[in-house]
Amino acid sequence: MENNQISTAMEELTLEQKASLGSGAAFWVTKTPNGIPRVVMEDGPHGLRHQGGDEDHMGIAPSEPATCFPPAVALAQTWDPELVERVGEALGTEARYFNTDVLLGPGVNIKRDPRCGRNFEYFSEDPLLSGIMGTAWVRGLQRQGAGASLKHFAANNQELDRMRVSSDIDERPLREIYLRTFERVVREAKPWTIMASYNRINGTPATENRFLLNDILREEWGFEGAVVSDWGAVGNRVRSVQAGLDLQMPGGDLAADAEVVEAVRTGALDSSLVEASSERMIKLALQAREARDLHAVESLDIDAHHALAREVAGRAIVLLKNEDEVLPLPRSGRIAVIGPFATDPRIQGGGSSRVVPTKTDAPFVEMQQLAKDAKLVAAEGYRHDGSDAATLREEAVELAATSDVAVVFLGLTAADEAEGTDRATIDLPSIQLELLAALSAAQPRTVAVIVHGGVVRLDEVGQMVPAVLDATILGQAGGGGIADVLFGDVNPSGRLGETVPLRLQDAPSYLTYPGDQLRIRYGEGLFVGYRGYDRLERDVAFPFGYGLSYTSFSYKDLKLAANGDGITAEVTITNTGERDGREVVQLYVSKNDGVQRPPRELRGFRSVFVPAGESVVVTLTIPRDDLAYWNTRLKRWVVEEGQYFVHAAASSRDLRLSSSIHLEGDNIRVPFTEDSTIAEVLADPIGAKIVGSLMQKQHREKQSVASEELGIDANQSSLRIPIGRIRSLSGGQHLPRPEITALLQTLNAEN
Ligand code: BGC
Repeated sequence: MENNQISTAMEELTLEQKASLGSGAAFWVTKTPNGIPRVVMEDGPHGLRHQGGDEDHMGIAPSEPATCFPPAVALAQTWDPELVERVGEALGTEARYFNTDVLLGPGVNIKRDPRCGRNFEYFSEDPLLSGIMGTAWVRGLQRQGAGASLKHFAANNQELDRMRVSSDIDERPLREIYLRTFERVVREAKPWTIMASYNRINGTPATENRFLLNDILREEWGFEGAVVSDWGAVGNRVRSVQAGLDLQMPGGDLAADAEVVEAVRTGALDSSLVEASSERMIKLALQAREARDLHAVESLDIDAHHALAREVAGRAIVLLKNEDEVLPLPRSGRIAVIGPFATDPRIQGGGSSRVVPTKTDAPFVEMQQLAKDAKLVAAEGYRHDGSDAATLREEAVELAATSDVAVVFLGLTAADEAEGTDRATIDLPSIQLELLAALSAAQPRTVAVIVHGGVVRLDEVGQMVPAVLDATILGQAGGGGIADVLFGDVNPSGRLGETVPLRLQDAPSYLTYPGDQLRIRYGEGLFVGYRGYDRLERDVAFPFGYGLSYTSFSYKDLKLAANGDGITAEVTITNTGERDGREVVQLYVSKNDGVQRPPRELRGFRSVFVPAGESVVVTLTIPRDDLAYWNTRLKRWVVEEGQYFVHAAASSRDLRLSSSIHLEGDNIRVPFTEDSTIAEVLADPIGAKIVGSLMQKQHREKQSVASEELGIDANQSSLRIPIGRIRSLSGGQHLPRPEITALLQTLNAEN
């Protein structure tokens, strides 16, 4: 697209027309002043929600059938960006088929608290896993000629009061945890648009947040796309334009367009901001038109997309427990299949992301399909509304007792966890646990399959039965994916993207969620998810990164090398079992000195296929930038000098091999102030010289003015005295203002 196309288009637009480009024409489309092409934006993220009739943003009115791929929670559990990129491509093809220019996704917010009603739409509690998955998704999608809308920017980590709450976050966790994911996707995948969220950040609405939309997103990260509001997130359009927001959605608020014009006329709004915004909207419109021409899709291979959805579903399932080799199931004998999800599967979460699937696979049918010689018998077991619990339980127990093995589906419904609301607990319904207890007493070979979008408590489940599959929510082909894993056609390789705590009260966010008087203080700081559980040394039911396989893997020969670009780690993985399988090799990094850090942080991972009995050498690179921390005084990323411990791990709590390596730090100079301590000044060669000669001078002038009085001795606590306090501590005798000013000037100038 030519820049001059944009400037020509701009020249032909009046101020009114430019302002009109800043809000949509209707629910899903932009305006077309003077022939500027229309842009169609639709949900998203895990399938197309193309509404032919009534339009809404809560998934209420129907949409045309489209492939319902596994939502982000499941994509993340594959830990495989190549697979996710293929899903992105398929979504791009479907978007082009429906003439959707921008697909509203992916959602890359951090799962801060297990209760967030939208955790199923988000990838992980970890910014690296979320960022890598989000990047892959956007790359795949945009390759096929549809744009992404990276959402919800930023710190939209709970649904409760999402349109009013302020996420109050210190700068370091904001940078290192909450913005890091967005930063990675913006820098690496260049999404066409980004969606400003409903909430406030440190008091300022995301849609009016110049620091976020302009200073960080555009100036620091180099974002060149358009900033779109979440649907209904703009309260004051003039302030939004001032902050750098380009498009208010949904459309129809013509009064807001008029307010922008009026503000420019009265001088309250700088016209250059409206110009810049409309240029970005024109750029988006031309980009969309070009993509439409280049990537026209006449028909869809729905079967191929369904097959991909099944492949991903199988890869997303996490095997949490498997004692006595209960799994994989034999393909003969009598198998009791219990629970409503077995025949009427839950495939996704509730809200704006709800897709009408092209078809839906029920686990019961798919299981029978794979085990033609087995006799599968079904029982309802329980109902979601709790009715007839005792009778249904008895029937199911009877069936389980007279079968060779029982598979019971437990979990939450789409109504239990949906957009716009959070959960109050993470417990499974008690009738389900009662059923499970009764089943396990009647049939020792009982397998629990857990269906859920956000984390549920699993410790009791794990204690009751020998085998547990975390089937999260898997999209329209999830039934097939579950059958594949149950019978061993797919050797499970999914890993958790979120810690499963023993109790909700253990969650690091527990004390401050959901905030007080509309302010949520992110008091756990950097210690989000496993970073917090590890720091608090809390036992968990299943740790972040955890997952079993039908085979086993050993780790050996961890070798590290470092250069200016970062750390390269090499480790040999051997499949020590009898089945081919995939291992997800995870690299965690610790640093035990310097600034405060979580005990371990994920810094790299790879899902690798290893044939039975064979070994694979896995090489992973941790870019130097990923080892940096956000220095709040310098307001920049800094790599600290020192020893970095690298752990090759099978989960965040299963560190198989560890080694360490020294890294040179960034050459940084923190300016000296009156708050700099004596120790800090002495640590600087110039400071040591100046303060040293000062000490000698004082010593000559008055023997009794001991260095102790100056705070200069070996005693640690005196060394911590800020130089600005010496005057007061010495009764006004030493380092009076002119001297300290001169000292600071010299120190900072010399530096
Ligand atoms: C959601 C967005 C969605 C939009 C349009 C909002 O309620 O937060 O994620 O894309 O509606 O449906």
